[in-house]
Amino acid sequence: MQNFYIKPMRTEEPRPIRLKDYRPPDWLIETVNLDVSLDPNATRVRAKLKLKPNAAATPAPLVLDGEELKLASLKLDGKPLPAENFVVTPERLTIAQPPNRPFELEIETVVDPAGNTQLMGLYRAGTTYCTQCEAEGFRRITYFLDRPDVMAVYTTRVEADKSEAPVLLANGNLVAHGEVPGTNRHFAVWHDPFKKPCYLFALVGGKLARVADSFTTMSGRKVALHIYVEPGKEDRCSYAMDSLKRAMRWDEEVFGREYDLDIFMIVAVSAFNMGAMENKGLNVFNDRYVLASPAAATDADFAHIEAVIAHEYFHNWTGNRITCRDWFQLCLKEGLTVFRDEEFSADQRSRPVERIGDVRALRSHQFVEDAGPLAHPVRPELYHEINNFYTSTVYDKGAEVVRMLKVLLGADLFRKGMDLYFSRHDGEAATVEQFIQCFADASGRDFFPQFMRWYSQAGTPEIKVAPHYDAREKTYRLAIAQTTPPTPNQPNKEPMVIPLAIGLVGKDGADLPLMLDGRPLERGVVVLTQPSRTFVFTGIAERPIPSLNRGFSAPIKLSLPIEPDELRFLAAHDSDPFNRWQAVQTLAMSLLTANVAALRNGAPARDDEGLMAALGAILADEKLEPAFIALTLAPPSEADIAREIGRDIDPDTVFAARRRLRAAIGERHGAALANAYERMITGGHYSPDAQSAGRRALKNVCLDLLAVTEKSEAIARAISQYESADNMTDRMAAVQTLSLHDRPERAAALEDFYRRYSDDPLIIDKWLALQAAIPEPATLERVRVLTTHPAFSMANPNRVRALIGAFAQGNPTQFNRVDGAGYDFVADFVLALDPKNPHGAARLMGAFRSWRALEAARRARAEAALRRVAAMPASSRDVHDIVARTLADS
Ligand SMILES: [Zn+2]
Repeated sequence: MQNFYIKPMRTEEPRPIRLKDYRPPDWLIETVNLDVSLDPNATRVRAKLKLKPNAAATPAPLVLDGEELKLASLKLDGKPLPAENFVVTPERLTIAQPPNRPFELEIETVVDPAGNTQLMGLYRAGTTYCTQCEAEGFRRITYFLDRPDVMAVYTTRVEADKSEAPVLLANGNLVAHGEVPGTNRHFAVWHDPFKKPCYLFALVGGKLARVADSFTTMSGRKVALHIYVEPGKEDRCSYAMDSLKRAMRWDEEVFGREYDLDIFMIVAVSAFNMGAMENKGLNVFNDRYVLASPAAATDADFAHIEAVIAHEYFHNWTGNRITCRDWFQLCLKEGLTVFRDEEFSADQRSRPVERIGDVRALRSHQFVEDAGPLAHPVRPELYHEINNFYTSTVYDKGAEVVRMLKVLLGADLFRKGMDLYFSRHDGEAATVEQFIQCFADASGRDFFPQFMRWYSQAGTPEIKVAPHYDAREKTYRLAIAQTTPPTPNQPNKEPMVIPLAIGLVGKDGADLPLMLDGRPLERGVVVLTQPSRTFVFTGIAERPIPSLNRGFSAPIKLSLPIEPDELRFLAAHDSDPFNRWQAVQTLAMSLLTANVAALRNGAPARDDEGLMAALGAILADEKLEPAFIALTLAPPSEADIAREIGRDIDPDTVFAARRRLRAAIGERHGAALANAYERMITGGHYSPDAQSAGRRALKNVCLDLLAVTEKSEAIARAISQYESADNMTDRMAAVQTLSLHDRPERAAALEDFYRRYSDDPLIIDKWLALQAAIPEPATLERVRVLTTHPAFSMANPNRVRALIGAFAQGNPTQFNRVDGAGYDFVADFVLALDPKNPHGAARLMGAFRSWRALEAARRARAEAALRRVAAMPASSRDVHDIVARTLADS
């Protein structure tokens, strides 16, 4: 019987960890020999560590991290260590006077995978044993120096009951396997020759089916590729496998990176807190990012699978071969790897469409985060709980910063800098400074200290541009000024390096040649480094229309005085597709914010015939990609509109103004939308490729815009599409459209959907999310009832994200109900989930991040809910940290 340790109630504020306090480890671990004997409730872990004092430091006590651990035995150089020579708690193993020389420590611990509901460390996902060690899960398996700058070579022996876990996996290459004589158990030994930090450790044991393929690398080595899934789901892995092979080839071609082990494995598990994890040679995936078939997955699911498979694979070089010195450097692996996966998707699909999608996501997550109480720099300087820093800022803004390096240097010098980074730091735990130094050295340009502010200053820079054309001198002046608003703990900001890709568009729609300071402007990019500067372009024969921040070259907010007819001109003619899309968004946003204000004041909303004409022209332009048209027809999201308004937000009027615009588009362009709908119908077999997906995207946007008018033929079209769909994209789009209309057909479709798919949890997640996102007052009660539905389980992060996450973060009007019931419901749920899964609970609390921007009544209700959670003495460090920061006065 095991007497497991229960986390104590939080009694004092934990001390923050600070970047400036970093010092190298006193001890290093050279090799780790693990022997893990799997058992549901009492897994025995023997860890043999070869330790040596770090030459860079004076000999010091050895302090190993633990969490909820129970020590069974401890030996030093093969001999049991007397009890008076060490101190052990569930959280720490301290040897005050270790030998001042290399030695071997053998630690035996016992852990309870079945009882591990946090899904960190070793746990059971269904009947599968699996691990999650990033950021600090390895310390839940054995006592260890759990920090990324301690890198060791691992050999892992896994043993289990043959019937319970016929498949036994760990990092690296398989070196031995066999039976344990006289028992029903077997074992496998895996050796990973590459040094790695413990957060990249993984092992898996279970009844799993294998899909096998292979890849021949650029140097001609054959690598086995294995995807493991629950038996019966093998036929849903082909897209993931194909994506993996394309990612491996792309990384060779674009970054010169070759895979290094003999085998690459992916395991899909049903209970996983994150999307996926890049453990060396053994990626563990949330099954929603592996399993796909036309009947079960939408086009968006296919695209996500491709991106996440590629992302985790790319980590093999950016994260694994070169890792982070400490967790403050998280963006070094995540920002860089997001940049790499975005580039991969852009090359595999449509670059403009991918860029628009990435920027939309950046604005609705990162910009919102950057404008609220949880704002933090891409490289934070302090944290209480590192789990709370796996944020859009670290990932998505981190990717934008890498993208800016490429904009500043051009493709060739950027690649030179990356090559230098790979060769100089291979096998090391690096810092952001070391990364940036490689680009400075490769290009001879200076990035210190100013470019580093992108890593140290939070907040979205605001760029104000004043243009002036002088017809007599034939000059065009752009006076550009920058400011960055205050953010928590950063009241004053220094000027940033802002690379702005620009074009001056002439009357014929073509770009005018750009001459700056007597030279052609390099790559069309001006770089603002001062608080303000005027750029004077010469030889400009006619008054141009400025197209600024093309391709979203810098992650900024741009304010430029521009006439609506100029925006319409750009929407029709800009050679930069991103800015064509942006021009329509800007027109729509200005109408939407004006109408929100009007509705708040009881004044009539207005229409914008110019915007309608621009949309009509885009819809009719058969040279444009359907996916691009689909993106352009979709008005800014409710989150975008709220962010643009900034304060005193009433989500109901935001919703009403947006719905009104959608209905106006549906009315005004009904015939063209119906026509496009028919044209976009794809015959033949379903294919998830980007072009076919784009046609479906446009078709389904048309369906939705037609239905907002409530015309009966439009609703009938949605019902007919629902019934006749031969793929999940079309069926899902139809039921999604129907879900926005309170009619009997909706109830029928939702019931039918459940009946069809009740045995497939990943599809039922869509059903849960769909209902949670309905913008109607009855939704809260519906969600409450669904929490008791047999398809829902609080123990499964995918179910929680689908139902509660969709309500809290995807339903602005109902989460922000004026009576505060939405806040109370989410707060109650968080408090119930927290003891079981603090990570998931803290993530849900993120829904409150914009509470200060709400109008007074809702603000008070949100604050009351936040204070109630804050007052809970037993809340986890994860939840407490988020709530404290959300409530803090900046
Ligand atoms: Zn990652």
